[in-house]
Amino acid sequence: MSESGGKKSAVVSLYGQALAPETFDPTPEIQALWSKVYEQMREEFGEAVFRSWLKPMALQASYHGTLEISVPTRFMKDWIQGHYISRILELCAAENADVKRIEIVVVHGHVEPQDAVSAASPVKANVNELAEKLDLSSPLDPRFKFDSFVVGKSNALAHAAASRVVECNVPFNPLFIYGGVGLGKTHLMHAIAWELKEKRPEKTVMYLSAEKFMYQFVRAIRAQDTMTFKEIFRSVDVLMIDDIQFIAGKDSTQEEFFHTFNALVDQNKQIIISADRAPSELQGIDDRLRSRMSWGLVADIHASTYDLRLGILKARCGHLDATVPDTVLEFLALKITSNIRELEGALNRIVAHADVTKADITLESTQEVLQDLLRASDRRITIDEIQRQVAEHYNVRLADMHSARRARNVARPRQVAMYLAKQLTPRSLPEIGRKFGGRDHTTVMHAVRKVEELISEDPSFAQDVEILRQALTG
Ligand code: ADP
Ligand code: MG
Repeated sequence: MSESGGKKSAVVSLYGQALAPETFDPTPEIQALWSKVYEQMREEFGEAVFRSWLKPMALQASYHGTLEISVPTRFMKDWIQGHYISRILELCAAENADVKRIEIVVVHGHVEPQDAVSAASPVKANVNELAEKLDLSSPLDPRFKFDSFVVGKSNALAHAAASRVVECNVPFNPLFIYGGVGLGKTHLMHAIAWELKEKRPEKTVMYLSAEKFMYQFVRAIRAQDTMTFKEIFRSVDVLMIDDIQFIAGKDSTQEEFFHTFNALVDQNKQIIISADRAPSELQGIDDRLRSRMSWGLVADIHASTYDLRLGILKARCGHLDATVPDTVLEFLALKITSNIRELEGALNRIVAHADVTKADITLESTQEVLQDLLRASDRRITIDEIQRQVAEHYNVRLADMHSARRARNVARPRQVAMYLAKQLTPRSLPEIGRKFGGRDHTTVMHAVRKVEELISEDPSFAQDVEILRQALTG
């Protein structure tokens, strides 16, 4: 590589602007090298990471084995330096062994570290206010409190852990609560938040879904205001993120969460996370983040027991001020087993129906009113069914759902079937993979993403998938 201006490179870091910049203009070879590496980064780090972090990188100068690359914000510079720089240097050095160093410079919207610190204090002083104004927190459901949470064998550990978080100062970090849909994760998290508000009003508590976290983060990047975002999230006392599985595959959001996570743990601030499965089972989540999430206490909520369901129904009856015969409650607790939300919904319906018709609640009327629900709970969609429907719809052989053939006309329907299996059944990715001719879980993951992408890009494809979904669920 060109050594022109090389001797001045020691001077440039001291007296930056004093030198004529043209001395350091990249040669055409260096420009070509950078274009190539730029494309390689896109391929290697994936479109999401690339768009969030790497795309704005621009080659400014080259001198003495150094490439000078500009980015628009200080935050971006730190991020790239913390995460991607060594790989980027490797890619450059592979093209030209003379490249020894990459210097990232902030070109506009430049914020000095000192500014960042001083700017942080007013932000910190009214995090709550700011968070509210920016609509970062999610609202808390007034029904989801500790006193309305019925404890049973299946949720005792999660409940005890949640109570500990309120009583002690950071007893474990993070608290990771996981369990299937409708088993009370959100209820417990809201209960913690309510209780903290009451017992420790001095603490800043932030509760939000992972989707909301992601949305806010992307918005901050677009608005080039990641500093505020970062500052708010790093100055809360208790951060709760619900349904963390939603950041699977969203690389840049994961990165940001990982850093927020570390910053808070370093300051001994409490983090509480919920997910629909154990940390080790989370697919599409970075290994470091996954392992970090299981450092504290991992508490699972198991499928509810009959006794718990009956207990919840009885408590709800007290709440609704309704008299429901025990036989009916027992029947419901026996029949509606998968999900407590459904169980409560069923109870609400029969109570409302009795209210309107002014009739007593009986086992017969219950069965009548809940006909559809009871039928649905008797009938669960299976992967076999999905494969059959999809094969028929796309006019391919059922055997092609399992076969190794990779031709587009069979591979695409297979991907659609995998996607629907993920959406409509409670099966895990490895389980789905096994049902599709023993494929790997990453293949299923890829299929799900691919189909999601196609759905967002191609309306007629989206319609096709919707028709299939309706045929299966209707
Ligand atoms: P998840 O977040 O795990 O999907 P939710 O916390 O939203 O589930 O719970 C679904 C519904 O079931 C809510 O109305 C919640 O109040 C109720 N629920 C779940 N578990 C319990 C429990 N142990 N006691 C009382 N209500 C419960
Ligand atoms: Mg929930």
